[in-house]
Amino acid sequence: MTTSILDKAKQIMKAGYICDHCLGRQFAQLTKGTTNAVRGKAVKDIFAFEADAGSKIDIDETNIWAYDFRNAKIKKGKQKPVCKICGNFFDNLGSVAKKAANRLSKFEYENFVVGTKVSGAVASNEEILWEEIGAEHCEPIKAEINRELGKLIEKTTGKKAEFDNPDVLILFDMDKGDVEIKPSQIWVYGLYQKLVRGIPQTKWPCRHCNGKGCKQCKFKGKMYATSVEEIIAKPLLRAFDSQSSSMHGAGREDIDARCLGWRPFVMELQNPVKRKIQLPKLEREINRDKRVKVKLVKFCDKETARKIKAARLTKTYRVVVEFEKPIKRGDISKILKIKSLIKQRTPARVAHRRADLVRERRILRMTGKAISGKRAEFLIKTEAGMYVKELVTGDDGRTEPSFTGVTNNKAKVKALDVVEIGKIKV
Ligand SMILES: [Zn+2]
Ligand SMILES: [Zn+2]
Repeated sequence: MTTSILDKAKQIMKAGYICDHCLGRQFAQLTKGTTNAVRGKAVKDIFAFEADAGSKIDIDETNIWAYDFRNAKIKKGKQKPVCKICGNFFDNLGSVAKKAANRLSKFEYENFVVGTKVSGAVASNEEILWEEIGAEHCEPIKAEINRELGKLIEKTTGKKAEFDNPDVLILFDMDKGDVEIKPSQIWVYGLYQKLVRGIPQTKWPCRHCNGKGCKQCKFKGKMYATSVEEIIAKPLLRAFDSQSSSMHGAGREDIDARCLGWRPFVMELQNPVKRKIQLPKLEREINRDKRVKVKLVKFCDKETARKIKAARLTKTYRVVVEFEKPIKRGDISKILKIKSLIKQRTPARVAHRRADLVRERRILRMTGKAISGKRAEFLIKTEAGMYVKELVTGDDGRTEPSFTGVTNNKAKVKALDVVEIGKIKV
Protein backbone atom coordinates (compact mmCIF):
# COMPACT_ATOMS: atom_id res chain seq x y z
CA MET A 1 0.00 0.00 0.00
CA THR A 2 1.35 3.43 -0.86
CA THR A 3 1.22 6.11 1.77
CA SER A 4 -0.53 9.37 0.83
CA ILE A 5 1.59 12.52 0.62
CA LEU A 6 -0.07 13.98 3.71
CA ASP A 7 0.47 10.80 5.74
CA LYS A 8 4.07 10.79 4.68
CA ALA A 9 4.46 14.47 5.64
CA LYS A 10 2.85 13.72 8.99
CA GLN A 11 5.31 10.92 9.59
CA ILE A 12 8.25 13.21 8.77
CA MET A 13 7.04 16.00 11.08
CA LYS A 14 5.98 13.77 13.95
CA ALA A 15 9.31 13.95 15.72
CA GLY A 16 11.18 17.26 15.67
CA TYR A 17 11.40 20.19 13.32
CA ILE A 18 12.25 19.98 9.63
CA CYS A 19 12.86 23.10 7.52
CA ASP A 20 10.85 23.90 4.38
CA HIS A 21 13.76 22.93 2.13
CA CYS A 22 14.31 19.52 3.70
CA LEU A 23 10.58 18.74 3.85
CA GLY A 24 9.97 19.90 0.28
CA ARG A 25 12.95 17.89 -0.94
CA GLN A 26 11.16 14.67 -0.01
CA PHE A 27 8.60 15.60 -2.70
CA ALA A 28 11.11 17.09 -5.17
CA GLN A 29 10.06 14.76 -8.00
CA LEU A 30 6.46 15.96 -7.83
CA THR A 31 5.46 18.97 -10.00
CA LYS A 32 7.90 21.16 -11.91
CA GLY A 33 8.96 24.79 -12.04
CA THR A 34 8.99 25.34 -8.30
CA THR A 35 11.48 24.97 -5.44
CA ASN A 36 11.74 22.58 -2.55
CA ALA A 37 11.24 25.44 -0.11
CA VAL A 38 7.90 26.25 -1.78
CA ARG A 39 6.89 22.57 -1.75
CA GLY A 40 7.73 22.26 1.95
CA LYS A 41 5.85 25.44 2.81
CA ALA A 42 2.80 24.25 0.84
CA VAL A 43 2.67 21.02 2.86
CA LYS A 44 3.04 22.92 6.14
CA ASP A 45 0.25 25.33 5.08
CA ILE A 46 -2.20 22.42 5.00
CA PHE A 47 -1.25 21.36 8.53
CA ALA A 48 -1.51 24.96 9.76
CA PHE A 49 -5.01 25.27 8.22
CA GLU A 50 -6.05 21.98 9.84
CA ALA A 51 -4.76 23.16 13.20
CA ASP A 52 -6.56 26.51 12.91
CA ALA A 53 -9.76 24.68 11.87
CA GLY A 54 -9.58 22.68 15.09
CA SER A 55 -8.45 19.33 13.69
CA LYS A 56 -5.96 17.21 15.52
CA ILE A 57 -2.83 17.38 13.36
CA ASP A 58 -0.60 14.88 15.15
CA ILE A 59 2.76 16.48 14.28
CA ASP A 60 5.45 18.21 16.30
CA GLU A 61 4.02 21.74 16.57
CA THR A 62 7.43 23.39 16.15
CA ASN A 63 6.94 22.63 12.47
CA ILE A 64 4.27 25.35 12.25
CA TRP A 65 6.04 27.81 14.56
CA ALA A 66 5.96 30.64 12.03
CA TYR A 67 2.17 30.88 11.50
CA ASP A 68 -0.24 33.42 13.02
CA PHE A 69 -3.36 31.49 14.05
CA ARG A 70 -6.88 32.84 14.41
CA ASN A 71 -8.27 30.03 16.53
CA ALA A 72 -5.66 27.44 17.38
CA LYS A 73 -3.99 27.78 20.75
CA ILE A 74 -0.51 27.59 19.29
CA LYS A 75 1.77 30.50 20.03
CA LYS A 76 3.95 31.88 17.29
CA GLY A 77 7.54 30.97 18.05
CA LYS A 78 10.09 33.73 18.41
CA GLN A 79 13.04 31.72 17.22
CA LYS A 80 13.28 29.37 14.35
CA PRO A 81 13.75 25.78 15.56
CA VAL A 82 16.75 23.84 14.24
CA CYS A 83 16.11 21.49 11.30
CA LYS A 84 16.79 17.88 12.20
CA ILE A 85 18.23 17.18 8.77
CA CYS A 86 20.33 20.19 7.75
CA GLY A 87 20.69 22.24 10.94
CA ASN A 88 19.18 25.23 9.06
CA PHE A 89 22.01 25.14 6.57
CA PHE A 90 19.96 26.83 3.85
CA ASP A 91 19.78 30.06 5.86
CA ASN A 92 23.50 30.50 5.19
CA LEU A 93 23.40 29.80 1.47
CA GLY A 94 23.57 33.52 0.66
CA SER A 95 26.86 33.95 2.50
CA VAL A 96 28.30 30.88 0.77
CA ALA A 97 27.34 32.42 -2.58
CA LYS A 98 28.98 35.70 -1.58
CA LYS A 99 32.17 33.89 -0.60
CA ALA A 100 32.16 32.06 -3.94
CA ALA A 101 31.68 35.31 -5.84
CA ASN A 102 34.59 36.86 -3.95
CA ARG A 103 36.89 33.98 -4.76
CA LEU A 104 35.76 34.04 -8.39
CA SER A 105 36.48 37.71 -8.86
CA LYS A 106 40.12 37.27 -9.90
CA PHE A 107 39.27 34.67 -12.55
CA GLU A 108 38.23 35.17 -16.17
CA TYR A 109 35.21 32.94 -16.89
CA GLU A 110 31.88 32.99 -18.64
CA ASN A 111 30.18 30.09 -16.91
CA PHE A 112 30.56 27.77 -13.95
CA VAL A 113 29.29 24.63 -12.30
CA VAL A 114 28.83 24.05 -8.57
CA GLY A 115 29.87 20.85 -6.82
CA THR A 116 29.16 20.22 -3.14
CA LYS A 117 30.88 17.94 -0.68
CA VAL A 118 27.99 17.23 1.67
CA SER A 119 28.69 17.01 5.40
CA GLY A 120 28.76 13.39 6.57
CA ALA A 121 26.37 14.11 9.43
CA VAL A 122 23.79 15.74 7.15
CA ALA A 123 24.02 12.93 4.60
CA SER A 124 23.42 10.34 7.31
CA ASN A 125 20.45 12.31 8.74
CA GLU A 126 18.97 12.19 5.28
CA GLU A 127 19.57 8.46 4.88
CA ILE A 128 17.96 7.69 8.22
CA LEU A 129 14.88 9.66 7.15
CA TRP A 130 14.69 7.75 3.84
CA GLU A 131 14.85 4.47 5.71
CA GLU A 132 11.82 5.54 7.73
CA ILE A 133 9.65 7.11 5.06
CA GLY A 134 11.06 5.85 1.77
CA ALA A 135 12.88 7.77 -0.95
CA GLU A 136 10.22 7.57 -3.63
CA HIS A 137 9.81 11.24 -4.60
CA CYS A 138 12.92 12.75 -3.07
CA GLU A 139 16.19 14.16 -4.33
CA PRO A 140 19.50 14.20 -2.41
CA ILE A 141 20.45 17.38 -0.57
CA LYS A 142 23.57 17.66 -2.70
CA ALA A 143 21.43 18.27 -5.80
CA GLU A 144 19.44 20.99 -4.08
CA ILE A 145 22.52 22.78 -2.74
CA ASN A 146 24.25 22.69 -6.13
CA ARG A 147 21.18 24.10 -7.85
CA GLU A 148 20.23 26.75 -5.29
CA LEU A 149 23.81 27.88 -4.83
CA GLY A 150 24.13 28.03 -8.61
CA LYS A 151 21.10 30.34 -8.84
CA LEU A 152 22.48 32.66 -6.16
CA ILE A 153 25.91 32.79 -7.79
CA GLU A 154 24.29 33.53 -11.15
CA LYS A 155 22.50 36.45 -9.53
CA THR A 156 25.62 37.77 -7.77
CA THR A 157 28.07 37.41 -10.65
CA GLY A 158 25.89 37.72 -13.74
CA LYS A 159 27.55 34.56 -15.16
CA LYS A 160 25.75 31.39 -16.19
CA ALA A 161 25.64 27.95 -14.63
CA GLU A 162 26.73 25.45 -17.28
CA PHE A 163 27.08 21.69 -17.04
CA ASP A 164 28.98 20.87 -20.23
CA ASN A 165 32.52 22.22 -20.26
CA PRO A 166 32.15 25.00 -17.69
CA ASP A 167 35.06 27.44 -17.37
CA VAL A 168 35.25 27.00 -13.61
CA LEU A 169 34.23 24.45 -11.01
CA ILE A 170 33.08 25.91 -7.70
CA LEU A 171 33.70 23.33 -4.99
CA PHE A 172 31.79 23.90 -1.79
CA ASP A 173 32.84 21.91 1.28
CA MET A 174 29.89 21.88 3.65
CA ASP A 175 31.86 20.77 6.73
CA LYS A 176 34.61 23.34 6.29
CA GLY A 177 32.17 25.98 5.06
CA ASP A 178 34.78 26.75 2.45
CA VAL A 179 34.66 27.40 -1.27
CA GLU A 180 37.40 26.43 -3.68
CA ILE A 181 37.61 27.60 -7.30
CA LYS A 182 39.00 25.17 -9.85
CA PRO A 183 39.29 26.62 -13.33
CA SER A 184 39.08 24.11 -16.17
CA GLN A 185 42.21 23.54 -18.16
CA ILE A 186 42.90 25.54 -21.28
CA TRP A 187 43.75 23.37 -24.28
CA VAL A 188 45.63 24.91 -27.19
CA TYR A 189 46.09 23.02 -30.44
CA GLY A 190 49.18 23.83 -32.44
CA LEU A 191 51.99 22.62 -34.67
CA TYR A 192 55.70 22.92 -34.02
CA GLN A 193 59.03 22.60 -35.73
CA LYS A 194 62.24 21.94 -33.82
CA LEU A 195 65.00 23.74 -35.69
CA VAL A 196 67.99 22.66 -33.57
CA ARG A 197 69.42 19.37 -32.33
CA GLY A 198 70.05 18.58 -28.70
CA ILE A 199 66.81 19.48 -26.96
CA PRO A 200 64.10 16.98 -25.97
CA GLN A 201 60.43 17.43 -26.75
CA THR A 202 59.35 17.49 -23.13
CA LYS A 203 61.03 18.42 -19.89
CA TRP A 204 63.25 15.57 -18.77
CA PRO A 205 63.69 15.29 -15.00
CA CYS A 206 67.26 14.63 -13.78
CA ARG A 207 67.71 10.89 -13.39
CA HIS A 208 69.98 11.30 -10.34
CA CYS A 209 67.65 13.39 -8.21
CA ASN A 210 64.32 12.88 -9.96
CA GLY A 211 63.85 16.60 -10.43
CA LYS A 212 64.65 17.75 -6.91
CA GLY A 213 67.95 19.32 -7.92
CA CYS A 214 71.46 17.95 -7.31
CA LYS A 215 75.12 18.56 -8.21
CA GLN A 216 74.87 16.50 -11.41
CA CYS A 217 72.10 18.67 -12.83
CA LYS A 218 73.52 21.89 -11.36
CA PHE A 219 70.40 22.08 -9.22
CA LYS A 220 68.17 22.53 -12.25
CA GLY A 221 66.40 19.22 -11.65
CA LYS A 222 66.52 18.32 -15.33
CA MET A 223 68.80 16.63 -17.84
CA TYR A 224 68.60 19.32 -20.51
CA ALA A 225 68.61 23.07 -20.09
CA THR A 226 65.34 23.38 -21.97
CA SER A 227 62.84 21.50 -24.14
CA VAL A 228 60.33 22.19 -26.87
CA GLU A 229 57.66 22.03 -24.20
CA GLU A 230 59.30 24.65 -21.99
CA ILE A 231 60.03 27.02 -24.87
CA ILE A 232 56.38 26.90 -25.99
CA ALA A 233 54.86 26.82 -22.51
CA LYS A 234 56.70 29.74 -20.95
CA PRO A 235 54.82 32.57 -22.71
CA LEU A 236 51.55 30.59 -22.44
CA LEU A 237 51.89 30.12 -18.69
CA ARG A 238 52.52 33.81 -18.26
CA ALA A 239 49.64 34.90 -20.50
CA PHE A 240 47.06 32.58 -18.98
CA ASP A 241 48.47 33.09 -15.48
CA SER A 242 48.71 29.33 -15.04
CA GLN A 243 51.12 27.44 -12.80
CA SER A 244 51.68 24.25 -14.76
CA SER A 245 51.34 22.77 -18.20
CA SER A 246 51.70 19.50 -20.02
CA MET A 247 52.39 18.97 -23.66
CA HIS A 248 50.69 16.21 -25.64
CA GLY A 249 52.55 15.60 -28.89
CA ALA A 250 51.73 13.43 -31.89
CA GLY A 251 54.82 11.30 -31.33
CA ARG A 252 58.26 12.73 -30.64
CA GLU A 253 61.58 13.10 -32.41
CA ASP A 254 64.87 12.01 -30.87
CA ILE A 255 66.77 14.65 -28.92
CA ASP A 256 69.49 14.78 -31.59
CA ALA A 257 67.01 14.97 -34.49
CA ARG A 258 65.50 18.15 -35.85
CA CYS A 259 61.84 18.23 -36.71
CA LEU A 260 61.38 20.30 -39.85
CA GLY A 261 57.91 18.94 -40.55
CA TRP A 262 55.04 20.44 -38.55
CA ARG A 263 54.30 18.20 -35.59
CA PRO A 264 50.80 18.48 -34.06
CA PHE A 265 50.58 19.01 -30.32
CA VAL A 266 48.16 20.14 -27.65
CA MET A 267 49.35 22.27 -24.76
CA GLU A 268 47.34 21.85 -21.60
CA LEU A 269 47.43 24.70 -19.08
CA GLN A 270 46.29 23.92 -15.57
CA ASN A 271 44.49 26.34 -13.24
CA PRO A 272 44.49 29.32 -15.58
CA VAL A 273 43.38 32.63 -14.09
CA LYS A 274 42.96 34.17 -17.55
CA ARG A 275 41.13 32.62 -20.51
CA LYS A 276 40.63 35.37 -23.08
CA ILE A 277 44.03 35.48 -24.71
CA GLN A 278 44.79 36.22 -28.36
CA LEU A 279 46.73 33.27 -29.77
CA PRO A 280 48.41 35.11 -32.71
CA LYS A 281 50.16 37.46 -30.32
CA LEU A 282 51.42 34.52 -28.25
CA GLU A 283 52.53 32.73 -31.39
CA ARG A 284 54.70 35.70 -32.36
CA GLU A 285 56.17 35.81 -28.89
CA ILE A 286 57.11 32.10 -28.93
CA ASN A 287 58.58 32.42 -32.41
CA ARG A 288 61.12 34.97 -31.20
CA ASP A 289 62.95 31.93 -29.85
CA LYS A 290 64.90 30.64 -32.85
CA ARG A 291 65.07 27.02 -31.67
CA VAL A 292 61.39 26.27 -32.06
CA LYS A 293 58.75 27.55 -34.44
CA VAL A 294 55.03 27.21 -33.72
CA LYS A 295 51.62 27.78 -35.20
CA LEU A 296 49.03 28.16 -32.46
CA VAL A 297 46.00 27.04 -34.44
CA LYS A 298 43.08 27.21 -32.02
CA PHE A 299 41.64 26.44 -28.62
CA CYS A 300 40.51 22.83 -28.32
CA ASP A 301 39.46 20.30 -25.71
CA LYS A 302 40.69 17.20 -23.93
CA GLU A 303 39.32 14.97 -26.68
CA THR A 304 41.66 16.63 -29.19
CA ALA A 305 44.61 15.96 -26.89
CA ARG A 306 43.60 12.31 -26.68
CA LYS A 307 43.27 12.10 -30.46
CA ILE A 308 46.68 13.71 -31.02
CA LYS A 309 48.39 11.34 -28.62
CA ALA A 310 46.78 8.30 -30.19
CA ALA A 311 47.43 9.42 -33.79
CA ARG A 312 49.63 7.09 -35.85
CA LEU A 313 51.02 9.52 -38.41
CA THR A 314 53.40 8.65 -41.23
CA LYS A 315 56.81 10.32 -41.05
CA THR A 316 59.34 11.24 -43.69
CA TYR A 317 62.95 11.33 -42.53
CA ARG A 318 66.07 12.71 -44.09
CA VAL A 319 68.98 10.58 -42.93
CA VAL A 320 72.68 11.08 -43.53
CA VAL A 321 74.27 7.66 -43.21
CA GLU A 322 77.96 6.97 -42.78
CA PHE A 323 79.37 3.55 -43.64
CA GLU A 324 82.44 2.00 -42.08
CA LYS A 325 83.95 1.05 -45.44
CA PRO A 326 83.62 2.91 -48.77
CA ILE A 327 80.26 2.45 -50.47
CA LYS A 328 80.42 -0.17 -53.26
CA ARG A 329 78.60 -0.10 -56.58
CA GLY A 330 75.15 -1.55 -56.06
CA ASP A 331 74.99 -0.87 -52.29
CA ILE A 332 72.54 2.02 -52.61
CA SER A 333 70.21 0.04 -54.87
CA LYS A 334 70.32 -2.90 -52.45
CA ILE A 335 69.17 -0.53 -49.72
CA LEU A 336 66.48 1.03 -51.92
CA LYS A 337 65.14 -2.47 -52.62
CA ILE A 338 64.26 -2.94 -48.94
CA LYS A 339 60.50 -2.86 -49.40
CA SER A 340 59.37 -5.68 -47.16
CA LEU A 341 58.11 -5.27 -43.65
CA ILE A 342 60.87 -4.33 -41.26
CA LYS A 343 60.93 -6.51 -38.15
CA GLN A 344 62.21 -4.54 -35.20
CA ARG A 345 62.88 -6.00 -31.82
CA THR A 346 62.73 -3.24 -29.18
CA PRO A 347 66.00 -1.30 -29.65
CA ALA A 348 68.74 -1.81 -27.09
CA ARG A 349 68.76 1.95 -26.39
CA VAL A 350 65.13 2.02 -25.22
CA ALA A 351 64.84 -1.54 -23.86
CA HIS A 352 65.06 -0.28 -20.26
CA ARG A 353 61.78 1.61 -20.59
CA ARG A 354 59.80 -0.33 -23.23
CA ALA A 355 58.58 -3.91 -23.38
CA ASP A 356 60.82 -6.24 -25.34
CA LEU A 357 58.87 -7.36 -28.38
CA VAL A 358 59.10 -7.49 -32.15
CA ARG A 359 57.26 -4.78 -34.09
CA GLU A 360 56.62 -4.81 -37.80
CA ARG A 361 56.74 -1.51 -39.64
CA ARG A 362 56.56 -0.74 -43.33
CA ILE A 363 58.71 1.55 -45.43
CA LEU A 364 56.30 3.46 -47.66
CA ARG A 365 58.80 5.19 -49.93
CA MET A 366 62.57 5.57 -50.05
CA THR A 367 65.03 7.45 -52.23
CA GLY A 368 68.74 7.96 -51.70
CA LYS A 369 72.17 8.62 -53.15
CA ALA A 370 75.81 8.54 -52.18
CA ILE A 371 77.13 11.97 -51.26
CA SER A 372 80.78 11.01 -50.66
CA GLY A 373 82.89 7.86 -50.48
CA LYS A 374 81.39 6.66 -47.21
CA ARG A 375 78.32 8.81 -46.89
CA ALA A 376 74.88 8.63 -48.39
CA GLU A 377 71.67 10.56 -47.89
CA PHE A 378 68.19 9.01 -47.85
CA LEU A 379 64.61 10.22 -47.74
CA ILE A 380 62.50 7.57 -46.02
CA LYS A 381 58.75 7.68 -45.59
CA THR A 382 57.55 5.16 -42.99
CA GLU A 383 54.57 4.09 -41.02
CA ALA A 384 54.33 5.55 -37.52
CA GLY A 385 56.60 3.90 -34.98
CA MET A 386 59.55 2.91 -37.18
CA TYR A 387 62.90 3.11 -35.38
CA VAL A 388 64.85 4.73 -38.22
CA LYS A 389 68.27 4.67 -36.53
CA GLU A 390 67.94 0.91 -36.08
CA LEU A 391 66.74 0.47 -39.67
CA VAL A 392 70.14 1.93 -40.63
CA THR A 393 72.41 0.20 -38.08
CA GLY A 394 70.55 -3.10 -37.72
CA ASP A 395 70.91 -2.82 -33.94
CA ASP A 396 73.11 -5.95 -33.76
CA GLY A 397 70.61 -8.03 -35.67
CA ARG A 398 67.57 -6.86 -33.71
CA THR A 399 66.22 -5.02 -36.77
CA GLU A 400 65.85 -7.05 -39.99
CA PRO A 401 66.41 -6.16 -42.76
CA SER A 402 68.73 -3.16 -42.26
CA PHE A 403 71.18 -0.98 -44.22
CA THR A 404 74.08 -2.69 -42.45
CA GLY A 405 72.59 -6.12 -43.13
CA VAL A 406 71.93 -5.78 -46.89
CA THR A 407 75.28 -4.10 -47.66
CA ASN A 408 77.41 -6.04 -45.19
CA ASN A 409 78.94 -2.65 -44.37
CA LYS A 410 78.41 -1.21 -40.91
CA ALA A 411 76.16 1.85 -41.25
CA LYS A 412 75.38 4.56 -38.71
CA VAL A 413 73.29 7.72 -38.65
CA LYS A 414 75.24 10.95 -38.86
CA ALA A 415 72.25 13.29 -38.99
CA LEU A 416 68.53 12.77 -38.76
CA ASP A 417 65.68 15.15 -39.53
CA VAL A 418 61.95 14.58 -39.57
CA VAL A 419 61.03 16.47 -42.72
CA GLU A 420 57.35 15.68 -43.04
CA ILE A 421 54.60 14.43 -40.74
CA GLY A 422 51.27 13.04 -41.93
CA LYS A 423 48.23 15.29 -41.49
CA ILE A 424 45.61 14.84 -38.81
CA LYS A 425 42.11 16.32 -38.85
CA VAL A 426 41.37 18.25 -35.71
ZN1 LIG B 1 16.66 21.44 6.63
ZN1 LIG C 1 69.70 16.23 -10.38
